Amino acid sequence: MPELPEVESLKNSLAPLVMGRTIVRVKVTEPRLRRRLAPGFAAQVAGRRIERLGRRAKYLLMMLGADGVLMIHLGMSGSLTHRENGFIHESLNPAHDHVEFELDDGSRMIYNDPRRFGLMKVVEPRLLAVTIELKRLGPEPMSEDFNADYLRRKARGRKAAIKNLLMDQQVVAGIGNIYASEILFRAGVRPTRRAGLLRRAEIEKIVQFTPAVLREAIGNGGTTFNDYMDGRGRQGAFRPQVYDREGQPCPRCTRPLRQVIVGQRSSFFCSACQR
Ligand SMILES: [Zn+2]
Repeated sequence: MPELPEVESLKNSLAPLVMGRTIVRVKVTEPRLRRRLAPGFAAQVAGRRIERLGRRAKYLLMMLGADGVLMIHLGMSGSLTHRENGFIHESLNPAHDHVEFELDDGSRMIYNDPRRFGLMKVVEPRLLAVTIELKRLGPEPMSEDFNADYLRRKARGRKAAIKNLLMDQQVVAGIGNIYASEILFRAGVRPTRRAGLLRRAEIEKIVQFTPAVLREAIGNGGTTFNDYMDGRGRQGAFRPQVYDREGQPCPRCTRPLRQVIVGQRSSFFCSACQR
């Protein structure tokens, strides 16, 4: 499932290709995503100029003209790829191309989503912060609002595992299973530790390594496990150090990495390097 670095990489790869272009036509082949596309969706988007691309948590934001923002969430398996006129991508299955945006230079953006857990909707810019998907999100993990004092306050008295706290979108936005495992490995903290019992120094390490891990992933175009690709159809090149590597040697001490289920999700850690 795409997390913050994948959506940021999607944004970075799409921006130079589509910014300033006008969407001339929208073809919806399958409106039944996680929620059904609004009946007027195509009309809301067609004729609008893509002014700027942004991101909040795992949502890609496309500023359309002055009075609309197109919010896109990739769900489990979604992709939004730009195709030049005549482009054919052999690895894509066109049966799952659900929405096509034709741009004024003849190129297209194609939304493909085999499992259809994605989401697409247009909101007014002034209502963006209070729209249902965004209004309860915690701070961005690469912003100054996500600091040791903040995380300590959120962790205080919590019996939940620290990994679950990092994946709680109301605590901090955009982190999922892959990066929560990576951050905790770098910080030397076991994913199962009770959040409320962490020491100050451990909280500080988690807060310090969070942006470091995310920036490193963004620099590598994110992580591809199943089907993530960026706006040019490229896979992510980030290689997790612990995620999905049970039994393989810890990159720091070479002991075999272990797997544990935390909050119904697989977590990966080193029993020697993480306490
Ligand atoms: Zn180790």
